[in-house]
Amino acid sequence: MSAILLDGAATAAQIREELKPRVQRLREAGIVPHLSVVIIGDDPASHTYVRMKAKACRGIGIESQTYALPAETTQQEAEELIARLNADENVHGILIQHPVPKHLDEIRLLNCLSPDKDVDGISPASLGALVAGVAKFISCTPLGIVELLDRYRIPIEGQRAVVVGRSIILGKPLALLLLQRNATVTVCHTRTRDLPSVTREADILVAACGRAELITGDMIRPGAVVVDAGYNRVEGRSGDVGDVHFESASQVASYITPVPGGVGPMTIAMLLSNTVRAAEMRLESP
Ligand code: NAP
Repeated sequence: MSAILLDGAATAAQIREELKPRVQRLREAGIVPHLSVVIIGDDPASHTYVRMKAKACRGIGIESQTYALPAETTQQEAEELIARLNADENVHGILIQHPVPKHLDEIRLLNCLSPDKDVDGISPASLGALVAGVAKFISCTPLGIVELLDRYRIPIEGQRAVVVGRSIILGKPLALLLLQRNATVTVCHTRTRDLPSVTREADILVAACGRAELITGDMIRPGAVVVDAGYNRVEGRSGDVGDVHFESASQVASYITPVPGGVGPMTIAMLLSNTVRAAEMRLESP
């Protein structure tokens, strides 16, 4: 392996340490930062993510409450809960764990979130604000990726960035963020013709497609920075597998994120950071 590891776990730990004194200051001012997490249904992976988020909150003094609703929850019941949390002065951030059961309209639910509490940054209002360059909160995984690049002093401006994936939680907001930072951005998806010829143009290549090891070393320009946002369960393999074939990619890339320990911990760190900021906003304008 010749690539340098972009260590998301260590960087996230550093960010958590930086957040602690801010949480302390808020508590001294009588504000206990609070994140409410709404999870609907029984998806085991989602429950694991929610537990990880709650633990991370506790670790830096953020209070968190999880609302685990049954899979048969109706749209009205879910919307009523969001309305209650919106109105609760002690709640600074609300996260609706994705995905929700299919019978629910997820976009409509996200539309119910107060933009001041959408610390996950994925409601249509927050995404629209990102397009306009005035977002209060930016989606945590894209934000974490850009933060990781910044902390390793990897230049973004003027670079050719290729994002493989266009979901509303990851690919699209990341493309917008990179564009805001003056990268030249290409977004790929399942209808992209000749994907390898596009990925080979990237100075910064982000794999966010949810296809285990789709991006192989031969699809990467030598010296490119490779970020792997993927987490895939593959039968017969232990642990999670990224969207990048790490063994071949790390021979070609200059920098690369591992899975696990790359983008995942950064996502959680950004959720904490957004929640602290939401509480600070309350302090600034009570
Ligand atoms: P998603 O909603 O399934 O979207 C996947 C995107 O990738 C789609 O836009 C799809 O294109 C595109 N795609 C799929 N196969 C492709 C192919 N063969 N070639 C080119 N494009 C392809 O997934 P997501 O929610 O964005 O998640 C993506 C990955 O990131 C997953 O592995 C997920 O587990 C991981 N993730 C990680 C974190 C974290 O905290 N680290 C957070 C969120 C997600 P179409 O639009 O044409 O279908």
